[in-house]
Amino acid sequence: MDETLEKKLDGAIWVARSLFERGKATGSVANLSFLHENKVYITASGTCFGTLQPNEFAIVDMDGNQYDKLRPSKELSLHLSVFKAKPDVGAVIHVHSTYSVLWSFVPDLNESDCIPEHTPYLKMQLGTVGLVPYEHPGSQALFDAFDKHVENSDGWLLSHHGPVVPGKDLKNAFFVLEEMEESARIAWELRNRL
Ligand SMILES: [Zn+2]
Repeated sequence: MDETLEKKLDGAIWVARSLFERGKATGSVANLSFLHENKVYITASGTCFGTLQPNEFAIVDMDGNQYDKLRPSKELSLHLSVFKAKPDVGAVIHVHSTYSVLWSFVPDLNESDCIPEHTPYLKMQLGTVGLVPYEHPGSQALFDAFDKHVENSDGWLLSHHGPVVPGKDLKNAFFVLEEMEESARIAWELRNRL
């Protein structure tokens, strides 16, 4: 049975706070979303993962039309692209976590699978990670670039910006994000050393 909305909101707030407290989400730039009864609940613009409240989610449909007065995160389009392209996805998290961002600066990465498989866990949890070329955050150019890559990989790293990860629910997306950030950290620490 589908979880109640209250449970999903509680889970979302736990995930957000956990990421914030361990430095994987900073300031007000992170955003997350989940589906409930065919509606998208996404953190509102300007919210902080460290202090997120149940009434700080904007509610929209798959085309971005708003059901409430809260303004959704300006990165809403990335979330909607994932939900449209991947019907089994129930939640999306986007942060600017340090090691994933650092790794995106490495030259000549494989665009359809950019994080090396030094340990097996990212492949087990997610699969491939596509590298999306840099475009200004929140711009139509970024959304267009993301749309071009969304079908080709299981998760995504926005170059010089941060990861976008899907999950069947928010807990699963959280585990995937943790694994991507750890894998990027291992790859970064091992670069030029093997
Ligand atoms: Zn961002």
